Amino acid sequence: MSYGNWKPPLNHPLYPPKASPEDNHFFVQAYELPLGMRSLASVKTCQVGGGTVAVKFIEKFFRNELAIDLGTVNTLIYQPGKGVLLNEPSVVALDRYDGEVVSVGHKALKLLGREPRGIEVHRPIRSGNIVNFEVTQKMLRTLIGKVTDGFRFGHFVVGIPGSATAVEQRSVRDAAHDAGGRRIDLVDEGLAAGIGAGLSIDDERAHLVVDIGGGTTNIAIVASGGVVSSMSLPAAGNAMDESIRDYVRSNYCLQIGEYTAEALKRELGALNDNDIPADERKIQLVGKQLSDGFACAVQITAEEVREALEPVINEIVTGIRRVIEDAQPEAVADIYYSGMILTGGGSLLKGLKSRLQSELQLRATMPEDPISTVVLGAGILLDQPEQLYRCAIRPNLPVWQEAEELVVSW
Ligand code: ADP
Ligand code: MG
Repeated sequence: MSYGNWKPPLNHPLYPPKASPEDNHFFVQAYELPLGMRSLASVKTCQVGGGTVAVKFIEKFFRNELAIDLGTVNTLIYQPGKGVLLNEPSVVALDRYDGEVVSVGHKALKLLGREPRGIEVHRPIRSGNIVNFEVTQKMLRTLIGKVTDGFRFGHFVVGIPGSATAVEQRSVRDAAHDAGGRRIDLVDEGLAAGIGAGLSIDDERAHLVVDIGGGTTNIAIVASGGVVSSMSLPAAGNAMDESIRDYVRSNYCLQIGEYTAEALKRELGALNDNDIPADERKIQLVGKQLSDGFACAVQITAEEVREALEPVINEIVTGIRRVIEDAQPEAVADIYYSGMILTGGGSLLKGLKSRLQSELQLRATMPEDPISTVVLGAGILLDQPEQLYRCAIRPNLPVWQEAEELVVSW
């Protein structure tokens, strides 16, 4: 059975209609304004869309409003009204002696695996979380410096994995603060990806968002501008590259680099025979022989790459199944109609969309540019302060949790 043309019956009586935006009445607090502006706001609270024109103008003028997707593989920066200002690999090259930044992004990536003695090349983010705080801070500061003039104080909205712990959230907040941010809002990447892919914050129906990035695959069920449940798996782009490297090592006794494995995945990675033309299903690969350390060239086929990728794909399918299994019946019914939204660079793997469709029997949709959905979603929230206030992850614990912790510590 093919799911390519299958469309859910959208007018089904059990499929509730979308809530109208007028249904939403909530308030934004004045502390959303920058610290120096508080006195300018004459009221303690203002209604949605309220606030004087003058305050808004001053606020806009002195602020650098940026949405940031600090990904394991790519970092993107977006500014409302201007679009995506930067899309560079999350790589930084540092001088080994004085710790100064030599290069970031594409330039630094070119040095990876062939760096001169005096230079260290870092990928400071692993699985969506900061593993080296100082290096991340330097990378982020340099990247932000590339797109801003540095004279204004920043308001940054940063996407982080839903599974990030309080300590990990704190480290992202601190790194963004040290990079020039005066107000930092963290948003769940699953939610940001959904909004970036076109979901409405007011839509109370549940949607399944699968973001296959470099370090992690984030699977989230989102509804009413919030995350209902989510899960992060290590089975993502980097795991696919590692799997290809393992395959070549055990079948050809050859060692290949990260960069070569990724290129092989992009060129030959396809989960269906028909996804690649017949004359392009073979590629020559040069690696380092395990026996004597010399270079050796071998021919590798698309079938072999598919075999290497299979365990990672199976893990992703199992992860999505588990999230659906654990969901409430109402959410599962909504997902039956709405299908799943596929985002992240990993979803560009040829044949992945149709494979997930047929294995999970759900319609899959993909935005035009799946790599920038998280940053676009964060940018949309940045433009809508009242929605951002509702969606942002709070630095403090909810009241009930604080009370529980107090009891435990007593
Ligand atoms: P992150 O958010 O973790 O930085 P991204 O969403 O930017 O990750 O996706 C990066 C991953 O997508 C990398 O592992 C890269 O190899 C993979 N990728 C990018 N383009 C393709 C493609 N055309 N085919 C397969 N994988 C791809
Ligand atoms: Mg990502």
